[in-house]
Amino acid sequence: MKKLIRAVGLMAWAGTSTLAFAADAPTPLAQLNFATVDSSLDTLYTRPAPVQRGQQQLRNADAAPVPIKEFAFDGDPKTYFGSLKNPTAKDDFTLVFDKPVTIKSITATTGKPDGTDKLDAGVIQLSADGTTFTDAGKFAEGVATIKGKGEKVLAVRIKPSADMTHPLAISEIAIESDPAVMTFKYPVEIFLNYDDAPELKDWCEKCAKICERQYYMLNEELKSEGYKPATVITMTLKARDNGVAETSGNRITGTVSFFKAHPTDFGAMVHETTHVVQHYRGRNPGWLVEGLCDYVRFFKYEPGKIGGINPATAKYTGSYRVTARFLNYIVEKYDKEAVHKLNKMMREGTYKEEAFKDMSGKTLPELGEEWQATLKK
Ligand SMILES: [Zn+2]
Repeated sequence: MKKLIRAVGLMAWAGTSTLAFAADAPTPLAQLNFATVDSSLDTLYTRPAPVQRGQQQLRNADAAPVPIKEFAFDGDPKTYFGSLKNPTAKDDFTLVFDKPVTIKSITATTGKPDGTDKLDAGVIQLSADGTTFTDAGKFAEGVATIKGKGEKVLAVRIKPSADMTHPLAISEIAIESDPAVMTFKYPVEIFLNYDDAPELKDWCEKCAKICERQYYMLNEELKSEGYKPATVITMTLKARDNGVAETSGNRITGTVSFFKAHPTDFGAMVHETTHVVQHYRGRNPGWLVEGLCDYVRFFKYEPGKIGGINPATAKYTGSYRVTARFLNYIVEKYDKEAVHKLNKMMREGTYKEEAFKDMSGKTLPELGEEWQATLKK
């Protein structure tokens, strides 16, 4: 319930209330207007040194927080985007919306909480098509506010008017518009390492964009009280003999040869991103962990692509797509919240097989048999 209040508060902060959230009737994804960050500026981030044999990997919590781009539009003025380098007059930081909106007002606030790294001289620009931008307001003391004149806007840009002598921090771009634009409720940035295959740079960038875009959906599907997902993910492509991809903590590793042979298989990386979101602990059955990932992938991200199943050999413990189908059966027949519930338990380390009986009145093996019988019809 706390989560819900926060979400409503965020929406009110971000703009109009035409898209209200309700506990029992979430707004369908397709109706939400998301933003994408497009910037010539890199985030202040240093790639961690490779882990040596026998050395402990630095944990998330121990690392300094990375001022990722999406923090500039997350509804939280305490977080900010920080640029790696000093921006020049040629650089920009742009938010592009899925659909054009009518702007009521925009207030862009730059600078860190301690007041440093403000935009000394710069402009806010608006664009109706995402290509041609015109000046709409000037920054003074690091802040720019503009009122809309009824124009339709697809993109908002912050641009220095001169080369800067320090990095730029953008704490928040607050947009009041009709309809509202979704702020980043689960801000994330994926940092890429394609050293082993520089020719896959474009592929990696496209893949990161897709996974960043799906982060909202993944976190809504797998939300649980008090859980905050990682804001930084690293995605590394490695030249190695086999494997597809795997995830450890917030580090995703994929195999160069696999993605060269299957360049459209972005779903495999969405699956890995789901593992980052899962953040499970305790002794959870592997088939269920993987099955839940593939449930989100094939029933939420790319429905209709799950492929065939062999009714003679399918077992609920079959993992991946097979278990995904089994979970979908439970969601549809017994408990719409089944995936939410299983996810919460596995994340909190309290999973027990009896959970299936609580949801359906049947033991897990009984459920498995019942599901199998439906495949043979
Ligand atoms: Zn997996």
